[in-house]
Amino acid sequence: MSAAMTCRSCEAEGLLPFLSLGATPLTDAYVPLDRADEPEARYPLDVAFCPSCSLVQLLYAVPPEAIFRDYSYYSSFSETLLVHSREHARELMTSRGLDSGSLVIELASNDGYLLRNFVEEGIPVLGIDPALGPADAAEAIGVPTLREFFGVELASRLRSEGKRADVVIANNVLAHVPDLNGFVEGIATILADDGIAEIEVPYVRELIEGLEFDTIYHEHLCYFSVTALDALFDRHGLSLNHVRRFPIHGGSLRLTVGRRSEERDTVRTHLADEAAAGMDDFDYYRGFGDRVVEVQASLRAMLERLRGQGKRIAAYGAAAKGTILLNSSGIGSDLIAFVADKSPHKQGKLMPGVRIPIVPPERLLEEMPDYVLLLAWNFRDEIMREQRAYLEAGGRFIVPLPTPVEVGREALESVEAG
Ligand SMILES: [Zn+2]
Repeated sequence: MSAAMTCRSCEAEGLLPFLSLGATPLTDAYVPLDRADEPEARYPLDVAFCPSCSLVQLLYAVPPEAIFRDYSYYSSFSETLLVHSREHARELMTSRGLDSGSLVIELASNDGYLLRNFVEEGIPVLGIDPALGPADAAEAIGVPTLREFFGVELASRLRSEGKRADVVIANNVLAHVPDLNGFVEGIATILADDGIAEIEVPYVRELIEGLEFDTIYHEHLCYFSVTALDALFDRHGLSLNHVRRFPIHGGSLRLTVGRRSEERDTVRTHLADEAAAGMDDFDYYRGFGDRVVEVQASLRAMLERLRGQGKRIAAYGAAAKGTILLNSSGIGSDLIAFVADKSPHKQGKLMPGVRIPIVPPERLLEEMPDYVLLLAWNFRDEIMREQRAYLEAGGRFIVPLPTPVEVGREALESVEAG
C-alpha cells in the first residue's frame, strides 16, 4: 500500500484531506464460512481534494492485484444495469453507424453484459478485463475477452496488431485505475482517428450533495467532476465533446471524448455550473466529513431503537457500498440478522469486516424480518418491485441516505409508476 503524495491526475503536491472512514476491509473480500475465524486485512480510507486540478481522490492505494483477480461482481445480476447498457449500445450503433467492419472495445467488460448487445447485431467487439470469473462468463456467451489490465502498453500492442477502435466504452472503471494518465493515454492510443470513447463515472457532485459516502471504497481511487476530467483528457490530446447525466449508481456522468473537438454546449454548461457551485474550491468539500458522522450516528440510533423494541432487522444488497456503510457506521450482527443478495457468488459467505451472513433474497419472505436496511439504495425501485410480496405482507424498508427513512407498501404505487 502506498500513500499518494501527489495528485493522481496532475501530479501536484498539497492534497487536502476532508474525510476519513477509518480502517475498513476490502469491500469485495467476502469471507467463506470456513475462514470465519481468520482476521482480514484492513486499509485506511481517507479522501482528499487536489486544489490544482480539483480531482477528489483517496490518499492511500491498495495494490490492484489484491482486488481484481478475485472480483466477484457480475454486472448481469442487475436488471437496471442491463437495461441501461442495452440502451447505450443501441444508441451507439445508430449514432456511429456501426456494422460488421467496425470495432467496439470495452474496458472493464465484466461478464459481457454490454458487449453482447453488439455481438447480437454482428458488430465485432473486444472486451478487456482482468477479473477472471466474469471474463470466463463473457467468453461463454460469445464475447471475446482479454484477461489483462488496460493501459498504454496494451493499447500500443493492440494498435501494432492493426486494431483501432471506432468506439471505446469505459463504464465505471476510470475511478478504479491506479495509473489514470496511462489509462487515458491508452484510450487515445487505441482510438481510430474519427473514433469516440464514452466513459461513465459516478459524479462527485452526487456523492457530496447526496451524502453518498458509501460509494467511497478502496477500489474507487478517484471521484470525478467535469472540471477535473476536462483537464485529464486535455492532457492526452482528447477533447471532451459531450456530457450527460444518468441516475444510475446514485448519479453518473457519461462523457463523450474524441481526438477531434466537437464540443457541445453540455460541456460548457457543466463547467459553468461546477464553477458556480464552487466545486473547484476546497470549501465545497470541507464540511462533508462532519455530515457523514452525523448521518452514521442517526442511522445507528434508529436501528438500535428498533432492536430495543424487539424488532428483527435484515439488510438487502451485499455490494461494496453495504460493506462500507456497515463497517464505517459500526452496524454489525448485533443489529442486522442477515444480508439478502441475488448473487450466488456471495450467498453462503459473510460480509467483510462485520461478518454478517449473506443469504438468497427468498429468505426475506420466509422469515419476514420487520425491517430491511436497503444497502443497495441505488437500486431501490428495482428491489422494491422484486420484493413486492414482502412489502405487501407488512415488511418495511429503511433507506439509509441521505437521511434514514422507512418506506413500506404505501410506496409501491409510486415505484410501479416510476
Ligand atoms: Zn490534481
